[in-house]
Amino acid sequence: MPELPEITVVARQMNKETKGKRISHIESRQPKNLNMPVTEFVKTAKGKTIKAVTSKGKWIFIKLDPAYYLLINRGMNADVLHFTSNQKPPEKYQFKLTFADKTGFTIQFQWFGYVHLVPEKDLTKHKLTGRLGISPIDEKFTPEHFRKLLANRKARIKSFLLDQKNVAGIGNVYIQDILFKAKLHPNRGISTLSEREIIDLYNGIQTVLNHSIRLGGLAYEKDFYGQKGKFTIDEFLVGYKTGKPCPTCKTLIEKIKTGSTSSYICPNCQPVE
Ligand SMILES: [Zn+2]
Repeated sequence: MPELPEITVVARQMNKETKGKRISHIESRQPKNLNMPVTEFVKTAKGKTIKAVTSKGKWIFIKLDPAYYLLINRGMNADVLHFTSNQKPPEKYQFKLTFADKTGFTIQFQWFGYVHLVPEKDLTKHKLTGRLGISPIDEKFTPEHFRKLLANRKARIKSFLLDQKNVAGIGNVYIQDILFKAKLHPNRGISTLSEREIIDLYNGIQTVLNHSIRLGGLAYEKDFYGQKGKFTIDEFLVGYKTGKPCPTCKTLIEKIKTGSTSSYICPNCQPVE
């Protein structure tokens, strides 16, 4: 499932390729992905121009002119693929958007995913994105913001970080190495964290996510040009490395159950208490 690095990479490429272009044609073969009937969706989007493409958490935000947003969620692992005027668009897709210059993009959803069209004035009321927390790569995500976010919370650290209302964009893939970097067991209670541990955790989030963005995201996810990322299994420190030695102390990495998710930890570097 794409997380913040994969979404960030695609959004930046989309911004580069589509900014300033006018929407001329939209095709939806799977209307359940949309938040309104197809005809209404097409009528509303047609003729609008792309102002900018950004991302927040696991969502792509396409700002349209005049005053609308096109919001895309790739679900499990939908490919969002660019095509140019002299290229044949991918054959398999459920959503296709073409610009006046005949370039565009297709989306091939797996299982679920969303393409929502929302008036700018209603953006904060949008059910799925309106309550998202701040993305860790947003400049507003400062150590001070993170400290305030954790203040007086009683939850366990892993489940807290995975809740998109607290922090937008971290999922069960990158959380593994983030917690390892901060030497924290996934079940640690937030109220037991020291000031040092909070700063280590903040730095762990930045380091792990930015490292993957630089590599173009996960090796099994495609970017806007159909290229796979370079964050391979070898890049993980403890994630998906059951039975392999911990890179710090050589203790064997364990896979444990933490609530509804699996966690990969070094039992020596990440003690329960
Ligand atoms: Zn270790």
